Amino acid sequence: MDCIFCKIVTGEISSKKIFEDELCLAFYDTAPAAPVHALVIPKQHVSSVLEADDEGLLGHLLSVARDIAKSEGLSESGFRLVINTGKDGGQSVNHLHIHILGGRSLAWPPG
Ligand code: AMP
Repeated sequence: MDCIFCKIVTGEISSKKIFEDELCLAFYDTAPAAPVHALVIPKQHVSSVLEADDEGLLGHLLSVARDIAKSEGLSESGFRLVINTGKDGGQSVNHLHIHILGGRSLAWPPG
């Protein structure tokens, strides 16, 4: 399958890995939108949160994203976890991912 994030999982495309276990992989975003910008993805291809039917996997991804925010030192200052979905949501890679953003004040509402 021609999916950038699947290629990161297999190692065909390199990434700056932060964390990995049997279910997921976390790495730094190559076009950071904040001083800390990481992504958590399932190793298995899931196109978006709309196709994610495994509650256990969704909970695990969220828990790993939270732990990475903590390990990146964002607990005190705060951070944002984002799942862009579909066209209006601004999803550009069709492989489910949670953005972990922090290290600066993030505007709300988003643009
Ligand atoms: P989204 O727009 O929510 O689909 O987010 C996709 C994110 O993936 C963007 O923030 C991109 O900068 C990021 N991205 C795309 N290709 C790579 C890559 N090879 N390694 C790390 N991050 C990537």
